[in-house]
Amino acid sequence: MLYFDNAATTKPDASVLSSFMKVNEKFFYNPNSPHEKGQEVERLLQNARDQIKSTLKLNDETLIFTSGATESNNMALKGAAHQKKHFGRTIITSLLEHPSVLEVMRELEREGFILKYVNVTAEGGIDIEHLKSLLSNDVILVTCMQVNNIMGQIQPIEEIVSCLKAYPKVHFHVDAVQALGKWPIQMAGIDSLSLSGHKFNGLKGQGLLILKNLHQIYPIIQGGGQEFGLRSGTVNVASDVALAKAIRLAEDHREALMQTLTDFTRALREMIQDYPGVVINSPVDASPHILNMAFPGVRGEVLVNAFSKQGIMISTTSACSSKHSNVNEVLKAMNISVSNILGSIRLSFDRHTTMQDIETFKAAFHQVYREVEELLEK
Ligand code: PMP
Repeated sequence: MLYFDNAATTKPDASVLSSFMKVNEKFFYNPNSPHEKGQEVERLLQNARDQIKSTLKLNDETLIFTSGATESNNMALKGAAHQKKHFGRTIITSLLEHPSVLEVMRELEREGFILKYVNVTAEGGIDIEHLKSLLSNDVILVTCMQVNNIMGQIQPIEEIVSCLKAYPKVHFHVDAVQALGKWPIQMAGIDSLSLSGHKFNGLKGQGLLILKNLHQIYPIIQGGGQEFGLRSGTVNVASDVALAKAIRLAEDHREALMQTLTDFTRALREMIQDYPGVVINSPVDASPHILNMAFPGVRGEVLVNAFSKQGIMISTTSACSSKHSNVNEVLKAMNISVSNILGSIRLSFDRHTTMQDIETFKAAFHQVYREVEELLEK
């Protein structure tokens, strides 16, 4: 089977898995224990933090190890809103965000915060002029993803940072889950940033929150005070050491990978031109590890099954994303037509994808197209 669902999760790298196993076997001790082995493990944990900081060229930021980006997003957003609630009540997001952001925003709204959604441009970007019009002295929190997980579009983080310069009390959070390993991670003007190990050949249950200033967020998990008091609970040092390794590997491969991914998506975009009725949903300048396309008139689920029969694992984006809607809300926010949403599929690649895989996919695509051609709205 060919695996083209890497935006959902990636295959763990063998060396990441082996670091995890080794630390678990030899250094299972608690880093909070005062004895020699505990202290040795504490040093391993410190080395993992130092390695991540040097790989990502960070300075004074604090790294909080978490179980994944869902936890990092919850921690940063709830923590920042609660820490800043005496300075204002307004928070800004967009409908493009992942549920681990949007559902937190909606929970904060139920608690009494004022939630504002920034408009989305036709290309799926944050509408900067609209953002400017929403900003006021009551705004305490703004959140935006760096790369969208469904379409791959890239958000104008630097422009958002410039808009926020006039509002220094705003906490700016970035969900960079789909960016690491493809795009540079930088913290200029950003207060917190979330990552998830399994999206870049690390392990599931492994995440990070990078924080500009430790005191900007209120701890949502209380207990023994680990992770600078922000995430109590015995630290999973094996996972954290393995995450440092996954981040280094992802950064080492990043530039070469972007070149090959660009070649893959270019080849696929060219091929699709020969198939009338098939539409590419991803904007031309989307991150090349994601290619979203639609077969209007055909259900995404039917396409997933048809590709599966050809030995290719892909994803549909037409699944319900909320109880209130039967079409994907992110695609709806981008003004994509309902038949394009219902007929959409997402291909996503990683560093294990080869040009040979792309060629195999092309042959399978031809076959699937022939099967569904009559249903296509041309
Ligand atoms: N944000 C984005 C953009 C994502 O793609 C994902 C994973 N689909 C998450 C957050 C949540 O990550 P995790 O499931 O690893 O907690």
